[in-house]
Amino acid sequence: MVELRAIPETPELAALRCELRDFLATEITAGRIALRNNSWLRYDAAFSRRCGQRGYVGMRWPRRYGGQERSERERFVVAEEMLAAGAPVGAHWIADRQSGGQILRFGTERARTELLPRIAAGMCFFAIGMSEPDSGSDLASVTTRARKVEGGWRITGRKVWTTNAHNAHYLIALVRTSPPDPANRRAGLTQMIVDLTAPGIEISPIYNISGEREFNEILFEDCPVGDDMVLGEVGSGWACVVNELALERSGPDRYMSAFPLLAELFRAQISDTAMPPGTGSETGRLLAHLIALRSMSHSVAAMLDEGHAPETEAALVKDVGNAFEQAIPESGRRLFPLSPSLPPPEPLAEMLAQVTRDAPSFSLRGGTREVLRGIIARGLGLR
Ligand SMILES: Cc1cc2nc3c(=O)[nH]c(=O)nc-3n(C[C@H](O)[C@H](O)[C@H](O)COP(=O)(O)OP(=O)(O)OC[C@H]3O[C@@H](n4cnc5c(N)ncnc54)[C@H](O)[C@@H]3O)c2cc1C
Repeated sequence: MVELRAIPETPELAALRCELRDFLATEITAGRIALRNNSWLRYDAAFSRRCGQRGYVGMRWPRRYGGQERSERERFVVAEEMLAAGAPVGAHWIADRQSGGQILRFGTERARTELLPRIAAGMCFFAIGMSEPDSGSDLASVTTRARKVEGGWRITGRKVWTTNAHNAHYLIALVRTSPPDPANRRAGLTQMIVDLTAPGIEISPIYNISGEREFNEILFEDCPVGDDMVLGEVGSGWACVVNELALERSGPDRYMSAFPLLAELFRAQISDTAMPPGTGSETGRLLAHLIALRSMSHSVAAMLDEGHAPETEAALVKDVGNAFEQAIPESGRRLFPLSPSLPPPEPLAEMLAQVTRDAPSFSLRGGTREVLRGIIARGLGLR
């Protein structure tokens, strides 16, 4: 059963939004934010530190772990305003969005007290260690393994596509802690927090299509992890990773990767009196889709606040959201007689170029379209 409801913005949320806009305006005026699409991948440790100082990281977590005990809906407002401004939130994004929540829910007391306050301070960054060369959509097939030793584990294997691992302090890795069981492929997996400075780790770049180092390959050779860095019960990694994926999939980052381009399209349309008649319906349609998606994502935030686990709803937001953000550059090209171009002749052409280049990845990262639709079909009782 899928449940999505529109959530009204309360005066408290509106006040938080104003506070965020003031902060971001100051950052822009000071030249500390260069407007970028897909800004949740942009690494800027100093910006993350300032966010931590203002209480914008780990907002939901208990105060004793460095959090602010605020709601998921308040966190949503912060995420939305940061993405709309193109702020470089990439350093803390993964830890704030999913790793911290995993540690809070499944971590040992030592992991919580040692790591959560540093994440909330905007000083400790995480990467996601799920995919392997032969395990992407089919995560249950991971072969990176951990063997038990006195006081902990030793990891050997390989992870790929690990976004920002070269800038992160820790990785949450999904590893095999007992041999595969053909009768239950999801058994025998465990999530562990890996210190990326530990011995036995080699991180090498994988360059993306524009030559940027966005993600990495990580080789583990007998890499040590303490027992107190295991998440949940040994062997319960599948349930843990499903929870992490739900945290990863439903937020505004799943439909706002191209928001700065969209805003630029609206601006250009308003100021361009030579626009052919009828083009307003194209941007009007995009705006209507954005409002519907925002309402869906907001509603998932409310479900998280109420303690639900909206796996199907999160998959729905991501699938529809990715289709929306991928359609924005196509609309841009239809509306404006511009060639996407780098280096930049003007902001709109530069943004069109950036988003045209990045958009295919939107429906791969965090789970592909086909996989999400399988989850949605199952949630609807269709398979
Ligand atoms: C920009 C970017 C950042 C990423 N960052 C990270 C990261 O930080 N950490 C991390 O662990 N991973 C990361 N990934 C990897 C990402 O999670 C995987 O690419 C994704 O899960 C797909 O896995 P795959 O690439 O192995 O493709 P495959 O799983 O091999 O899929 C190939 C194709 O087959 C289709 N397919 C697969 N199974 C089925 C099925 N059962 N039914 C129908 N169709 C199916 C898929 O939809 C896809 O079209 C990132 C990827 C990208 C693009």
